[in-house]
Amino acid sequence: MLIVGAGPAGSTTARYCAGKDLDVLLIDRRNEIGYPVQCGEFLPDAKEMYSMFPKTMDLEELFRLENKCVAGESDYIDLISPKGKVYRCDFVGSTLDRRVFDKHLVKLAVEAGARLETKTSFLSMSDGIARTTMGDIEAKVIVGADGPNSRTARQAGLRNPEERYPAVTCQTTVKFEPTIKMYFGGLAPGGYAWVIPKRNGANVGMGFNPKLINERPRVLFDRFVAKLGIDHSDVTMGFVPQSGPLDRTVIGSTLLVGDAAGHVMPTNGGGIPLAMIAGRIAGQTVREHLKNGVSLMEYERRWKTVLGKPLANSLRTRKLGDIFFPTDRRTEFAMAVLGKRGLARAIKCRKVFYLM
Ligand SMILES: Cc1cc2nc3c(=O)[nH]c(=O)nc-3n(C[C@H](O)[C@H](O)[C@H](O)COP(=O)(O)OP(=O)(O)OC[C@H]3O[C@@H](n4cnc5c(N)ncnc54)[C@H](O)[C@@H]3O)c2cc1C
Repeated sequence: MLIVGAGPAGSTTARYCAGKDLDVLLIDRRNEIGYPVQCGEFLPDAKEMYSMFPKTMDLEELFRLENKCVAGESDYIDLISPKGKVYRCDFVGSTLDRRVFDKHLVKLAVEAGARLETKTSFLSMSDGIARTTMGDIEAKVIVGADGPNSRTARQAGLRNPEERYPAVTCQTTVKFEPTIKMYFGGLAPGGYAWVIPKRNGANVGMGFNPKLINERPRVLFDRFVAKLGIDHSDVTMGFVPQSGPLDRTVIGSTLLVGDAAGHVMPTNGGGIPLAMIAGRIAGQTVREHLKNGVSLMEYERRWKTVLGKPLANSLRTRKLGDIFFPTDRRTEFAMAVLGKRGLARAIKCRKVFYLM
């Protein structure tokens, strides 16, 4: 079995599939796993995930974090309107150090029996043979865990997530109170800017709807950082799938997991926990497929059961938000109408209005 991409989705898939009886190869084009960091690094705790995704199970085991992976903790999110009104919501989670965390997940996969090859790019595939920069690899199953612009998906005849929002992030050594800040309005059109606190600084960044910006993402980002008046380093840019999960994530003997499958919450941009939840389902299903002939389609059925409904709610809310986001005045109005409770429901993937 071949897994393309050693982010949270690929390494978790490998961890739950590998064993002495199965040959699992995990490849990644990066030199160093988890670096550069292209992420806000926030991971909700297991209780928050159960409340958002009530059909998930055994998250304590999946999300168990070694101290070295955790760079900070927070109990609240402040949602801040264009005029500066603060709506504080309970939301417990950790700020990760993804440079350490991604390596830790890979270590768990290797301990389970998977093999890892870095500096290895997937190029193309045909008839169960994957062409990579380390040569051709024959695999009974190929898992595309190669992020939002998945080449594996396109090569297999599947799609990439339709909407991918650009997002820019950096690290600062300036310390903030241990509460996540999400700033809405024209400073990050159609998305939000964030400060995600760490014990020794913070992760600062923003994501936007590319249809609503008429400046380069870096210009908007620099303006926000200047407004905060902070030192910063390690500026990176990435893309966040924002159109909900793909309907089709399995074709023949290929399946897609994590960002490649659009497993991201559209109202908050969080994808790490879903990559791990879907990765575990993928790993377990591929194992059952290779050992007992269980259909790979079972993977799609299982992740849809667990993630499908909350992600559909979240996508609906994000689309509703698109009506209000274009101007600060409308954003201010929508936030006031929703209030703290409605806004908390939105970011937690629930229906914002009970009648929707
Ligand atoms: C700026 C930004 C901020 C974010 N903030 C948060 C946040 O705070 N919390 C949260 O939960 N989520 C956040 N996300 C989303 C989160 O980062 C992703 O959802 C998560 O990383 C998905 O994991 P993954 O394993 O699917 O993909 P990735 O982590 O992207 O891993 C994909 C891997 O595939 C490798 N790869 C790609 N192509 C190839 C190839 N052809 N051959 C070999 N290897 C390949 C890459 O090198 C990479 O290591 C953010 C995203 C961005 C861009």
